[in-house]
Amino acid sequence: MPTYDVIVLGAGSTGENVADRAHRGGLSAVVVESELVGGECSYWACMPSKALLRSGQALDAAKAVEGAQEAVTGSLDVAKVFERRDGFTSHWKDDGQVQWLEGAGIDLVRGVGRITGPKQVTVTAEDGTVTELTATHAVVVSTGSDAMLPPVDGLADAKPWTAREATSAEAAPASLVILGGGVIGVEMATAYASFGTEVTVIEGGPRVLATYEEFVGETVTTSLRDKGVRVLSGVRATAVSRGADGVTVTTGDGQSVTAAELLVAAGRTPRTADIGLDTIGLEPGSWLEVDDTLLVTGFDWLYAAGDCNHRALLTHMGKYQARACGDVIAARAKGTVETPAWSRFTADADHAAVPQVVFCEPEVAAVGLTEKQAREKGIDVKTAEYEIGNVAGAAVYADGYAGHAKIVVDAAREVVVGVTLLGPVVGEMLHAATVMVVGEVPLSRLWHAVPSYPTISEVWLRLLETYGL
Ligand SMILES: Cc1cc2nc3c(=O)[nH]c(=O)nc-3n(C[C@H](O)[C@H](O)[C@H](O)COP(=O)(O)OP(=O)(O)OC[C@H]3O[C@@H](n4cnc5c(N)ncnc54)[C@H](O)[C@@H]3O)c2cc1C
Repeated sequence: MPTYDVIVLGAGSTGENVADRAHRGGLSAVVVESELVGGECSYWACMPSKALLRSGQALDAAKAVEGAQEAVTGSLDVAKVFERRDGFTSHWKDDGQVQWLEGAGIDLVRGVGRITGPKQVTVTAEDGTVTELTATHAVVVSTGSDAMLPPVDGLADAKPWTAREATSAEAAPASLVILGGGVIGVEMATAYASFGTEVTVIEGGPRVLATYEEFVGETVTTSLRDKGVRVLSGVRATAVSRGADGVTVTTGDGQSVTAAELLVAAGRTPRTADIGLDTIGLEPGSWLEVDDTLLVTGFDWLYAAGDCNHRALLTHMGKYQARACGDVIAARAKGTVETPAWSRFTADADHAAVPQVVFCEPEVAAVGLTEKQAREKGIDVKTAEYEIGNVAGAAVYADGYAGHAKIVVDAAREVVVGVTLLGPVVGEMLHAATVMVVGEVPLSRLWHAVPSYPTISEVWLRLLETYGL
């Protein structure tokens, strides 16, 4: 019965990093993986989706600059885009990541892992071989999340695409209907529209990207429509059926949309249904509730990091949690440790400063609280907004640059608690915003962070001036 200091269930981006940090902290670590080492991000999420989006964005960027636009004489080579995407997923082979694990001194056991009791994990390989593992210090669940199928009549039988099929498709279908106008729905609508697919987005909420500042959803809807995407918001799918001419979605207001394929992008569900949670008194299929050190409530040996704890379903946040989790396990193995807020053993940014870029057009970049969220928290809110196109750097970057920026300030403390940026390449400005939110840099000090001329970052100065500095 092999014994390790730490057993990590799931070798996605989170699990790999937990194991690495624990190992660097002097512990032995094994990861258990039932599919591909590297997980969702590498093969069916971040990497392939961004690869599918990038060529269209590059083409649009060239078309937005006089002198360059004249050189654009053709359209997107869709087959090449898919070929390029295949390179980013390493053709769905994980040899490179397995090699990385070996180099990092972390063992790998392939198969489905299930917790069978305190600090016990049983792994069943594809050929039926069973390996029993014991942990001396900790078991970490980092099994990720799956696409959630909402309870719509006929949906499962219609064999819809999930994000996996959308990101690994071999070719673009003639038409695609997407259920859900969140980040995945909007990104895939943007990518497939750029391939010439006739796309319809059905969003039950008031607008797409509804969790962001209101101007985001409004602008992105207009931009999707300009690209020929049909956007139906405030409309729910009530029934789905697949027939000879494709998939038909019927909506609550009596419309019906037929397309060659249907993509469900309506949320995520935890991949915890079959990992043995019942053997330790937890509900199978539930999100795992953790404290800021990623320790599962009620346990001193069970941790959960990444998507499966539902704190921030993003690769960079999972890896951030992984660093805290691996470090705190190693430290606790050496004795009791203090875990004050904002120490290397806690994932406090999960609550205050989750940065996210939506790679649609225009790009969306946000961190911290929206105005609505800040007001709900009882913060004394003051905001400032600015049209990014008015700064010289933006005008040079693209003719007719259209973009908008908003800061949400805690007026009592005079610190920025939220930033939303909308416009071409704003994703590259997001880290400055993250630093100001995490660092709680006083506005009076931010005044001295002088943006270079002529860059789009000049918008930071304009926002402070608009605020009243
Ligand atoms: C289409 C799409 C695009 C996205 N784009 C971005 C983006 O641009 N940027 C970003 O930050 N985030 C993005 N995300 C989110 C990001 O992909 C996830 O947050 C991230 O992959 C979660 O990592 P994880 O390690 O928690 O889980 P996963 O990557 O899902 O890893 C979990 C691993 O556990 C394994 N596993 C599960 N159960 C068992 C078991 N019982 N035994 C053994 N192994 C098991 C799985 O096979 C998997 O390899 C995107 C998501 C989607 C769907």
